[in-house]
Amino acid sequence: MRIGVPKEIKVHEYRVGLTPMGVRELVAQGHEVRVERDAGSAIGYSDQHYIDAGAAIVEDAEAVFREAQMVVKVKEPQLHECAWLSEGQVLFTYLHLAADRPQTDALLASGCTAIAYETVEDLHGGLPLLAPMSEVAGRMSVQAGAHCLEREQGGRGVLLSGVPGVSPGKVLVIGGGVVGGQAARIAHGMGAEVWVVDKSLPRLRELDEQFNGQVKTLYSSGENIRQKLAESDLVIGAVLVPGAKAPKLVTREMLALMPPGAVLVDVAIDQGGCFETSHPTTHAEPTFMVDGIVHYCVANMPGAVARTATQSLTNATLPYVEALANKGWQAALASVPGFAPGLNVHAGRLYCEGVAAAFDLPL
Ligand code: NAD
Repeated sequence: MRIGVPKEIKVHEYRVGLTPMGVRELVAQGHEVRVERDAGSAIGYSDQHYIDAGAAIVEDAEAVFREAQMVVKVKEPQLHECAWLSEGQVLFTYLHLAADRPQTDALLASGCTAIAYETVEDLHGGLPLLAPMSEVAGRMSVQAGAHCLEREQGGRGVLLSGVPGVSPGKVLVIGGGVVGGQAARIAHGMGAEVWVVDKSLPRLRELDEQFNGQVKTLYSSGENIRQKLAESDLVIGAVLVPGAKAPKLVTREMLALMPPGAVLVDVAIDQGGCFETSHPTTHAEPTFMVDGIVHYCVANMPGAVARTATQSLTNATLPYVEALANKGWQAALASVPGFAPGLNVHAGRLYCEGVAAAFDLPL
């Protein structure tokens, strides 16, 4: 199969659909991979790395799209890119169509087969192609929070690890799923005192076992959150209610309970955020202050560590890309467990219930 990997063109997006490792694997299986010039140059993957892996470098973005049988990307295509897709082509990328009517209409009009990373499932109902970015964001949330705690950033001047003779910082993680579990791991590894609150008792049991009781768990109630806010230096928001906006678990009034200069990192900001005072920010200006509390609410945290994020994404997507390339999309979706829900659009029709419901369109 001829596979096209375009350069990502959204602002500050440096990730790329396939690493040279992924290209090498596909070429070894007899596929042709065409990568747009400079697609990975911002994250240390030069054109020569891709050539060495067996790819051809293509100058023109339109040609990468139009001449591919399958396009592998990271972010949703922009409208002019959708116009370069046509019937018989497969697009495999993050789409998030339910939040984007113009893109949905453009993909329907193109006639292409669009398979979304974020709706592929695993055998346990998990989301295997979203999880790698949650892992990255979860680990990064503590790094970002630790930086924000520095006095120069508006923070209260606390070193999370403490030092001999001085207590470590206190971290509260709200929501102990993929993001929260990874955040707890890094905060604990740095020597902080860590609490995780979650509504799910099975999840709290897992975390309790995983950390041998050294990360403390608490059931998520308003009272427990209020009590912990009063003593936390860093609070990480990582809740997810699938298909819904994040619940606001910390209100503006509750900020007064926190020590001035404490930090809120709202990882759930891409679902509206779980703190009432959050609004989305960018890597260019990641923080703002409300009532003396530092807020970090970057909606695409993995973008800052695009090399790690790209490697992690390719590790997760490659088996699916290989199945699509080796078997064709119909056989791949039918034979790989959990792959079928990935189909969002085919030949001008919607196949994803959530997207159809969002726009009142037929399936
Ligand atoms: P997940 O489903 O693995 O975990 C969510 C957890 O929240 C679950 O354990 C669930 O039980 C818990 N939860 C639900 N309601 C709760 C409540 N009222 N109180 C406490 N816990 C509650 O999801 P995830 O992969 O960890 O993702 C978390 C959020 O992070 C999502 O909104 C996701 O989109 C977002 N995210 C953001 C970025 C970013 O760059 N900002 C990157 C990746 C993921």
